[in-house]
Amino acid sequence: MKELTIISGKGGTGKTSILGAFATLAGKSVICDCDVDAANLHILLQPNIKETHDFYGEKKAEIVPELCTNCGKCEELCQFQAIQQGQINPYACEGCAVCYHVCPAGAVNIKPHLSGQWYISETKWGPMVHAKLGIAQGNSGLLVNMVRKKAREIAREQSLPLIISDGPPGIGCPVISSLAGTDMALIVTEPTVSGIHDLERIVKVAAGFGCVSAVCINKYNLDEYNCRYIEDLAERLQVPVIGRIPYDLTVTEAVLQGIPVTTLGKGDAQGPIQELWQQVGNLLGVR
Ligand code: SF4
Ligand code: SF4
Repeated sequence: MKELTIISGKGGTGKTSILGAFATLAGKSVICDCDVDAANLHILLQPNIKETHDFYGEKKAEIVPELCTNCGKCEELCQFQAIQQGQINPYACEGCAVCYHVCPAGAVNIKPHLSGQWYISETKWGPMVHAKLGIAQGNSGLLVNMVRKKAREIAREQSLPLIISDGPPGIGCPVISSLAGTDMALIVTEPTVSGIHDLERIVKVAAGFGCVSAVCINKYNLDEYNCRYIEDLAERLQVPVIGRIPYDLTVTEAVLQGIPVTTLGKGDAQGPIQELWQQVGNLLGVR
């Protein structure tokens, strides 16, 4: 079994559209949405949810009013200003448990907090594991880890040779979780100043995991000067550019329709996406 993770240093490069297209080209694979903070792959793949599971990612404090003597000690010592007038703000509470330890009345409990949900679904192109983290909830790295673990289990159970994961943007904890143990990182960038800046950072992060890395320049023809700059940068960073996809309004049309662009069967991006998929298959050793 091989794992491909599609990442981007910044959001909005078209990573999810490319993954949606790959899902249709791969034959049956396990599809995994690791962008749990802002999941949107389901918009393109329209999964039919089969199982829903709760995710308890954090702990939060709770005050038992009947036991509280209003001494104010917890409010004074909470470093996150999460307690005001005897009430805990769950969005501000970091679950550090200082209040629990200092409370002289034993009035504070620290409890697991429901932070989101994860799902096992079916799509036309194979099983999908995805998740939704609640607003202002933390520990997305742990949730990504759970989603990937489930995707591997399903791949083993159904003897599927490939897992395709949509990684989160950025270089933080959920990205690290998305890359750990993957066979290949496909980095999707775009020819903008922020695209160039973030490409360098994400290439260095991916290099730390020892997986095969390659770059795809999406919307390359919007700025050919920046596109050449990215090609030079990639050469300096010793990572190959294996795809150049032109700006194509058909991709937007597909997003608006909620379908992978490949199912439209038209537009300038079709051929380059298929060539990119061939290159990925060569590097991963899957067909
Ligand atoms: S657990 Fe920590 S952050 Fe939360 S209310 Fe108590 S002291 Fe504040
Ligand atoms: S430290 Fe305990 S008793 Fe004092 S205000 Fe906080 S919860 Fe109430």
